[in-house]
Formats: sequence, structure tokens, C-alpha cells
Amino acid sequence: MAADLLRVRRRRAVARMKTVLYRARAYDTPDDSAFPLRRRPRAGRLGRRIDHGAGSFASVRAGHPDDTVIDLRAGILLPGLVDTHVHFPQVRVIGALGMPLLEWLDRCALPEEQRLASPDYAATIASEFVASLIAAGTTTSLVFGSHFAPAVDALFTEAARFGLRLTSGLVVSDRMLPEPLLTTPEAAYADAVKLASRWHGTGRARYAVTPRFSLSASDPVLAACAAVMAEVDGAFFTSHVNENKAEVTSVAGQFPDRSDYCNTYDHHGLLGARSVLAHNVHPLASELEVLAHRRTAIAHCPSSNAALGSGLFPLREHPAAGVPVALGSDVGAGTGFSLFKEGLQAYFMQRLLGDEGFALTPAHLLHLSTQAGASALGLGDVIGTFDVGKEFDAICLRPPVGTALDIGLRHAGSPDEALGKVFALASDADVADVWIGGVQIASGGFVRALRR
Ligand SMILES: [Zn+2]
Repeated sequence: MAADLLRVRRRRAVARMKTVLYRARAYDTPDDSAFPLRRRPRAGRLGRRIDHGAGSFASVRAGHPDDTVIDLRAGILLPGLVDTHVHFPQVRVIGALGMPLLEWLDRCALPEEQRLASPDYAATIASEFVASLIAAGTTTSLVFGSHFAPAVDALFTEAARFGLRLTSGLVVSDRMLPEPLLTTPEAAYADAVKLASRWHGTGRARYAVTPRFSLSASDPVLAACAAVMAEVDGAFFTSHVNENKAEVTSVAGQFPDRSDYCNTYDHHGLLGARSVLAHNVHPLASELEVLAHRRTAIAHCPSSNAALGSGLFPLREHPAAGVPVALGSDVGAGTGFSLFKEGLQAYFMQRLLGDEGFALTPAHLLHLSTQAGASALGLGDVIGTFDVGKEFDAICLRPPVGTALDIGLRHAGSPDEALGKVFALASDADVADVWIGGVQIASGGFVRALRR
């Protein structure tokens, strides 16, 4: 829907609620872009943050003459973007092209990940990573953490400075990786519970139990992960699955007693409604059935799938089986933090699949980048759209004058046309303002930490 006004309550430092009228060209995630298309009833409840949706400025202003008005009509207002799979330690290794998954891990990702053993280095990377998320307009994320607990601590600390909605955890493995990245089942459990006790439910942080992938995590480590899930109420689970054919074959060799890759996790009870698995480019029908039954979501990372030559994601099969799908940038195997680029790449991939592909529209892309991710992360009722009652997580795009996006948006004939131009042309440089929970954390492209 397009709205020209949003009335938002926001919390001031003095803890009293102040209401602001945002006058904007706002494009909201449509009700009916779920897979398969479904129409949700529009909520009429009073909001903690957004308490008035679409309406003419004059009529709403007349009812609230004392509210502050912020005029954003020079740009386009969208719900904050949600990235459901992005690797914290890999911000500096983006752009290493030309290798398949397992070679890329050995040569690029894993050497960099070992450097996060240094708390100073990890703190620097945390600051670069969080700044990159905000610059891309990503207000909510499920972040693949580090193998080192102090580094994960640094990530949560940095995200809290800006009030980001961040779910993450310690990455654990006990084989197949360089020795400094390995742990034991006992340490994997103890370190995770300690981190979760500090961060799970603190502000907007939540803990995600994170074995790297079952290729590098033995049954005892996966059992330790299940023990953490049992110990930490409401914890999330995330890992990788069915990314690359060589990887799938190796996992089958590692787990001869399991029916398939998904079963390596499901055997330990790790798949559920709070689980998100990245990729699933090569699923079996039986795996899709299990994922749907468990209500486990897939983080589709199309740039990474293309860069590593992993394959063309069978999007159509997922909703057909009842498996939820959202988007992930997968940095660093991807090509940056922008979910606009991921949306465009998802669109390209489905086009390349011809009749087998899912015909994605601009509205689908907005849905995949916002509400689908929010739902996968259990925040579907909190963020993801500008529905009345939701918290005001938003970004304002203001492309530089004279750029193709600026020209396109000025001449777009409809919201769908404008959204198509956004996904085709927008980049981090066009994200001017960012709000989370009604508080602005980036303004004119500059980020600012919350005042305490
Ligand atoms: Zn990944």
C-alpha cells in the first residue's frame, strides 16, 4: 500500500511517549505477498509505536495539531529490512570471487575467522559489521557469530549501542576446520549458556544456537546444541543446509545413519519454529516435508549461491511444500549487505529457471526483505510492515539527484513501478535515514549511537 502519513509514538530519553507525524511517500509490505499468497486481516489495534496508518495529511493533522511533523516527501519510506543470514566475521573478505564453497572456506573465510581470536580485532570487526548493517538499512538480523565467545560478546555490545534487533550466538564445530576454530561438546555448551545468560532477552538481543554446519559438527556437538536449546528458553537455532552438492555428499559420508542432511539436525530435535537454515539449494522432497512440518524457515542467499556457483534455489518448491523463505546476504560469500541486491538476485535466479521459477514481483521482493524475515525470526507481529500496532522500524531512501534511481522514482507511475526501480537500482548509498523502534539511528547517511 502507499501511505502519505504515518503517526508514530516514540520514546524520548525522558521516558515519556511523544507522537510524531511522518509525512512521507511510504510503501508498505503488502498483506498478500506471502507464499502462497494470503490475505491477513488488517489490524485495527492501538499501537505501541505506529498508531495511525494511511490517511490524508490534512485530516490526521487536524486531529493532532500539536504533534511534531517530519516531512520525508523527498524520499521513499519503507519498513526496515531484515537479513536472516549474515556472517559477522566476514565483512573484510567480501568479494573473493572464483571459488566453490569448500575452497572459499579454506582460502578466505576460515583464515579471517581465526583472527577474531583477538578481542581487539573482534571489536574492530564488530564495529565495521554493525555500521555496514545500518548503512544497508538492515534493522533486524539473524547473524552467524564467531567461534570465539569474546568476539560474540563484542558483536552484541556493538549492536546494543544502536538498538539493532540482533539474534546471534557462538559458532561451534569440533572437526574439519582449522584447530583454533574447534571446541568440545562440553565447552560448546558452557560457553553458549554463559553468553545467552548475558544477552538473550537483553534489550533487543536474542541468542541463536549455531553449529557451523553438520559437516564440521559431530553428533556430540549437535547434542550439546540441543542441550543449550533446552536450557535457554526461547533460543533460536541456525545453521547451513544443502548449499553445495560436494558438501551434501560429504555430510552423507559423515552421517551414514541419517536419512539426509536435514535429518542430521532433526535427529537432535534442533528444527522447529525458531530455527532458520541457510541455503537449501539442493533439498530432497522428504526434507521439505520435514521442514514444513517443523515450521523451520529457509534463509535464501541468492548472491552467495551465484558467486559460489552453488546452484539455482528452488523457490517454487518451498512455498508449495509449506516451507517459509526469507532473504539473507550471507556476507562474505555474498556481494555486500544490501537486501535490495539480494532481492534483485533472487528475481534473476527465478527468471533463469524459466518455467520452473517463481515469478517474483516487486511486492514479493519487499515482502521477502521485510515481513518474511520478521516472521522467520518470530517478530512477525512486531515489525516487518507499517501495520498499526507495530514498532516503527523504517528506512528512508533518498537517492542523489540525477541518479537513475532518483529519475526513476520521480517518474514512477505506481507503487509497484517504484518498488521495481528500488530493487533494480537502490544501493547502500541511497539509504539516508534509519529508525528502529521509533528512534532514528542514521540520519543523512551518518549513524549515531543511542543516548543512554
Ligand atoms: Zn552462511
